Amino acid sequence: DPSTFLDTQERSSLPPNTQRSEPKHKVNAVFVMLLREKDLYGAKEAIRQIEDRFNHRYGYPYVFLNEKPFSEMFKDSLRAISKSEMKFGLIPTEHWSYPSWISKERAAEARKSMKKIIYGWSQSYRHMCRYQSGFFFQHELMLPYDYYWRIEPDVRYSCDIDFDPFLFMHENNKTYAFTVSLKEYPLTIPTLWNTTKEFMEKYPQYIAKNNALGFISNDGGESYNYCHFWSNFEIADARWMRSEAYQKYFEHLDQAGGFFYERWGDAPVHSIAAALLLSRDQIHFFREIGYFHNPFHNCPAEPELQAKCHCDPDLNIM
Ligand code: GDP
Ligand code: MN
Repeated sequence: DPSTFLDTQERSSLPPNTQRSEPKHKVNAVFVMLLREKDLYGAKEAIRQIEDRFNHRYGYPYVFLNEKPFSEMFKDSLRAISKSEMKFGLIPTEHWSYPSWISKERAAEARKSMKKIIYGWSQSYRHMCRYQSGFFFQHELMLPYDYYWRIEPDVRYSCDIDFDPFLFMHENNKTYAFTVSLKEYPLTIPTLWNTTKEFMEKYPQYIAKNNALGFISNDGGESYNYCHFWSNFEIADARWMRSEAYQKYFEHLDQAGGFFYERWGDAPVHSIAAALLLSRDQIHFFREIGYFHNPFHNCPAEPELQAKCHCDPDLNIM
């Protein structure tokens, strides 16, 4: 009951940072954000909207991850904006560095030759994409949770979310949910599909019967059509990502080296995995969750949904 919650907060004499609300949620779930300290204000903006539009009613906790230790000042600044529990984790070096089988020289050559491609020159972006593809859900702070909702600095949540998406996932047997889908830049993933086809041949037992191959391929799996779910928004079942099927897929990709020798993004990796390893009805589009990540929107146009939003449906990507 939200009114009891307010009473408790007002009566409390604790300083704001230590006034923690009793969680009002039903599902074992968490928000997760990967960020650097320079992202503080973008992170505050995103969390403020998540709280105002949704989480002040539920009190789901947050996990923040970084490959560098967060300062106490940074943690305090974030904790000050929500009563929900916030945990700050350091990424273990082995999850944010070159695996032994990768040639750093070849990786450096690849970055040089990809200067004209978005983030093609960047080493940190590659570590980030590999981390988001294979490791964040294994972080010790993430292990206690079944579901996660990925957020990023600077994103906008433009509609009231007056239901619990985590509970929806749980009750409807959904494993992976998105708000925006689009096409990947082909030059970032020249060999991703061939590597995936090898995986399918080697491990046919992991391919779901009622899969969504039709979403990612227009020719029955011969080629990838570059469609993917935009993974900067994701609500998903972390237990699936920790499963043998997903783990084998990630390991197979990681061995092939494309995170470093090309610039494989976590969005096509998660999307292809979801399309092949899950049954179609485990994937869900949250059309009612108004969302913006530069430069694309998901803004529901239906009048009854618009009434809860501050976004312009004419700016929709589709
Ligand atoms: P884009 O959306 O593809 O343009 O990539 P972003 O710059 O938004 O990065 C995706 C996510 O990874 C965001 O949550 C960033 O805060 C985070 N991120 C990107 N690079 C780094 C990095 O080097 N270190 C950390 N800790 N987070 C990063
Ligand atoms: Mn982003």
